[in-house]
Amino acid sequence: MDYYGKQISRLIEELAGLPGVGAKTAQRLAFHIINMPKERAQGLAQAIVDAKNNVHYCKVCQTLTDSDECPICRDTQRNHKEIMVVENTRAARDLAAYEKTGKYTGVYHVLHGAISPMLGIGPNDIKIKELLIRLQGDVDEVIIATNSSLEGEATAMYLSKLIKPTGIKVTRIASGVPVGGDLEYIDEVTLLRALDGRTEL
Ligand code: ZN
Repeated sequence: MDYYGKQISRLIEELAGLPGVGAKTAQRLAFHIINMPKERAQGLAQAIVDAKNNVHYCKVCQTLTDSDECPICRDTQRNHKEIMVVENTRAARDLAAYEKTGKYTGVYHVLHGAISPMLGIGPNDIKIKELLIRLQGDVDEVIIATNSSLEGEATAMYLSKLIKPTGIKVTRIASGVPVGGDLEYIDEVTLLRALDGRTEL
């Protein structure tokens, strides 16, 4: 099995453990790294270590960042009275996808999951408390952009029941985005149509 020697095999194994990387790709990447100039390989390793050491949740919106507040939360040009609630960074309707469109001018809140009784994930297991704290400030609208899966819908219902009594407008994004759809296949037009077509809950 160990054709290449322990260290090469270990590198291949580590790479193969990454999502979306099959055995063949892992091998290709490993040989690519081995053939890199030493400084580049060291730079790559250092980037991984630095990111791991310094990246944490933004204290406001809970997205991943390496500063106290992420660049979006710090941006004074954005409308901080409009908060779009997304499940996480992997969901179909996520922050990165909307940012790529360049057309959304509000800010975000990342829940890091969705309520799922089946998986034993309750409201306290995701970043709802942090959202409620933000809503004590000056907020006009909360746009719920959780997925159109069972969990995403349950989370949307839960949030709307919680927020509506505060008088803040709660809207749900139109279901133009496929369930569990891969980000790369969701085009800008679909995302923007879903945003424009949002309805009040
Ligand atoms: Zn932020």
